Amino acid sequence: MLIKIKRNANRKDVDEFIQKLGGGQAGVKIINWGDDRYLVSKKLTENSPIIEEIKDIKSKHHLSSREFKLEDTVIAIGNTRIGGSSITIIAGPCAIETELQIKSAARFVKAAGAHILRGGAFKPRTSPHSFRGLEEEGLKYLQEAGKEVGLPVVTEVMTAEDVPLVAKYADILQIGSRNMQNYMLLDACGKIRKPILLKRGLSSTVDEFLLASEYILAGGNQNVILCERGIRTFENAFRNTLDLNAVAYLKQVSHLPVIVDPSHGTGLRPLVTPLAQAAIAVGADGVIIEATATPDEALCDGAQSLDEPMLNTLITNVNRISSVVYR
Ligand code: PEP
Ligand code: MN
Repeated sequence: MLIKIKRNANRKDVDEFIQKLGGGQAGVKIINWGDDRYLVSKKLTENSPIIEEIKDIKSKHHLSSREFKLEDTVIAIGNTRIGGSSITIIAGPCAIETELQIKSAARFVKAAGAHILRGGAFKPRTSPHSFRGLEEEGLKYLQEAGKEVGLPVVTEVMTAEDVPLVAKYADILQIGSRNMQNYMLLDACGKIRKPILLKRGLSSTVDEFLLASEYILAGGNQNVILCERGIRTFENAFRNTLDLNAVAYLKQVSHLPVIVDPSHGTGLRPLVTPLAQAAIAVGADGVIIEATATPDEALCDGAQSLDEPMLNTLITNVNRISSVVYR
């Protein structure tokens, strides 16, 4: 359960009450949530004048659940909103390869009507012999590209140590699929206040996915965006199987925005637009799309990347579906 502490309660009374409930060994701890403080505890063995309210949340996803917060979380990045009634389109190359490549992508992504520019500077690659990103140089190009066209930018952070560096350049930090259970990284992202795009682990259940989001929320960072990006199944005709069940489910049980990645979810260029449409129809708050001027020459994920005309079609179609679902 979550025990909301009165705002005027002093630290000494709170510490004493924590000890009465069994202390850290019993799993009792404080969570800062905006201007409020909550105690997480398995049970409430005694009363205290410091208690403001008791939230007996049945879900083990204390902070991400709608039991805790009924209304949708809406994340503001400049004039862009993620969640609530908005549909957010994020697009850009898988990896930042050159200054020219990211800047030309930024121009057509903006012209197509997308709201946020993506691009990876630290790339987690299955093979160490593949292109692994331009690192800080790439972050600089991405930030400049975003500024030139007036779009916020999102990029992946792979280690806890890199969080301050990536946060210096990015408006949103992405935690990749392979790092969904990197608890040190999750903790580090809980300590900052920039939005975090948390991708579902490639073999993770929705329960594990929500628990990973709890790490960031428990650190006091309320700006978490969930991203369904496909999971490993027995099916090998596609790179992954995009789990749209999870999208409908997450929207019901959680107040956090849910973005869908049909690029990694399918791995196949012709399937990206139809699955982006399906994602919006099923209730997603937006999509993240890999797009670059010349996908066939891309150093990373070219087979699932769209070119400019394909991105234009995707966005037109997504906007049509959005109006059908009153978004
Ligand atoms: C990416 O967005 O390019 C990426 C590596 O995604 P994922 O972590 O979902 O594989
Ligand atoms: Mn990619």
